Amino acid sequence: MPDRQPTRQPAVRGAKAPGNAPRAHLCLTSGTGPGAPAWRKRRVLLLNTTFEPLTALPLRRAIVLVVCGKAEVVHGDSAGMVLHSATSAVEVPSVIRLSTFVRVPHRSRVPLTRAALMLRDGHRCAYCGARAETIDHVVPRSRGGPHTWENCVACCTKCNHRKADRTLGELGWQLETAPRAPRGRHWRLLAGLSDADPLWLPYLGEPAA
Ligand SMILES: [Zn+2]
Repeated sequence: MPDRQPTRQPAVRGAKAPGNAPRAHLCLTSGTGPGAPAWRKRRVLLLNTTFEPLTALPLRRAIVLVVCGKAEVVHGDSAGMVLHSATSAVEVPSVIRLSTFVRVPHRSRVPLTRAALMLRDGHRCAYCGARAETIDHVVPRSRGGPHTWENCVACCTKCNHRKADRTLGELGWQLETAPRAPRGRHWRLLAGLSDADPLWLPYLGEPAA
């Protein structure tokens, strides 16, 4: 894709509630799922009209976009929570889609963060497939291994402990696939997030490495 500069700022930033927007009264009426109290900190994946992921918005801003008709809910919250305003009820969204296309500038290198790495590896240990809790440097840092996408994998604490500062060759371990940087600028949006809703994965375009 050519690296063209857009003629105007992406409207994502400007898509904040205009001054005359109806205020969404965030009255939570149901929510029995786990983690329901954390809903205030929730972020919502914002998709372009083309379903390309753009950013992750605070829940309040996402609700305002939906209430103002600037976006539609693509996926509701998995716990089925509903917010009531004075005049309407809005499903708590996990994924929303803009009603008007916005052009976004091309950005290249995806920063390596814990959250993005966990998503790339599907929260699974690269060595045993158990749930990953940490990050392992395939070539240990003490042996000169760099902190890069190509040298980092999601890892369970057990494997991380067993591996210590040894190399795969020394242990006789193997990786199923060579780790690599995820492609696609939308991965950048994950870099700033401490967690991401699993419902977002189908929209992030890249299968786990
Ligand atoms: Zn493991």
